[in-house]
Amino acid sequence: MIEHLLTLDARDPLAHKRAEFTLPEGVVYLDGNSLGAMPRAVPDRLARVLHGEWGEALIRSWTAGADRGEDWMALPDRVAAKVARLIGAQAHEVAVGDSTSVNLFKVLAAALHLNPDRRVILTDAENFPTDLYVAQGLGELLGRGHELRRVPAREIAAQLTPDVAAVLLTEVDYRTGERLDMAAVTAAAHAQGVLTVWDLAHSAGAFPVDLRGAGADFAVGCGYKYLNGGPGAPAFVFVAERHLPHAPTALSGWMGHADPFEMERSYRPAENARRFVVGTPQVLSLSALDTALDVFEDVNLGDLRAKSLSLTDTFIELMAPLGERFPLTLATPLDHARRGSQVSYRHPDAARVMARLTGRGIIGDFRTPDILRFGFTPLYHSHLDVARAVLGVQAVLEEQA
Ligand SMILES: *Cc1c(COP(=O)(O)O)cnc(C)c1O
Repeated sequence: MIEHLLTLDARDPLAHKRAEFTLPEGVVYLDGNSLGAMPRAVPDRLARVLHGEWGEALIRSWTAGADRGEDWMALPDRVAAKVARLIGAQAHEVAVGDSTSVNLFKVLAAALHLNPDRRVILTDAENFPTDLYVAQGLGELLGRGHELRRVPAREIAAQLTPDVAAVLLTEVDYRTGERLDMAAVTAAAHAQGVLTVWDLAHSAGAFPVDLRGAGADFAVGCGYKYLNGGPGAPAFVFVAERHLPHAPTALSGWMGHADPFEMERSYRPAENARRFVVGTPQVLSLSALDTALDVFEDVNLGDLRAKSLSLTDTFIELMAPLGERFPLTLATPLDHARRGSQVSYRHPDAARVMARLTGRGIIGDFRTPDILRFGFTPLYHSHLDVARAVLGVQAVLEEQA
């Protein structure tokens, strides 16, 4: 078995990417879906921004280096273009800034505005809490009788009724790692006049996303998970080109204006997705994200997906014998088309198992009530890491039995 894994690692076209990350010794880090590991080039970039651009050049950095594309003003657009490639969008359809939660508010508000005669926001009952809370809060704020309708994910297609304005879904379930068929759901929604809002928190950077191919309307996603932008990294927002001229920005700030430095008295939105940016860009964290995204530059996204599936297949295969000895149930689909880049198991004592695993340097995640979650990052994991993780799980379960 080990030899087979070593062969897979020897053939891995992404093996050289691991050296581009800082990873602690003796740790198998399986939580890149909560906070991606740090790309090695980030500290130097931040040091340059701090000492040179902020410390020395000060206010001049907003425009200095514009000829080389290094000015702070253009930083959000440069980062947006890098994200666009990973999510199958055109650069002018993507903006970067704020958090995923805030961006969700903006695009959901735009979707409801574009479908004014309908009052229902349809969502997966198990959607990530912030998605549910933002939708609920926005509906209440609008005060026009909007309802947040929560149904099991598999019933979404059947619930696309004529009162539904927008369907809000996370492509990959943060607990089970189950992936929805974005193209099929989007087509079904459009057939009923429903707009789609996709949360790509567990998709972007984990595998190639094809927003244009799917015909998606709106999307948001995180900069600090599979994009490795660092804690609290700015998030992204996608608005399909066809909606750009009509999609209102609920938060119309000066940086979303067509010409921020004209200081006009009334708001005139930028033509591209920058209209969804609100205020001054977060230069420090945007710079870290910018450098983190460079790691993807020479990565073939097909290779990324193939390796992710190979890692998760290997993990599931090696874990199978433990499922026969311990109360461990696989929560992630076996079908490749329905799997993201994580594998989850249910275990009655999951919180304690994960605490012990973390103590052994196998860092995954516990998700209430009983989920053990292991995120696989094709840029920095090897098949040998997978075997190490399984040995750790085995030791913990035996110890606890
Ligand atoms: C991580 C995550 C978020 C995070 O939102 P923030 O505003 O960055 O805190 C949102 N949605 C999903 C599905 C997530 O997994």
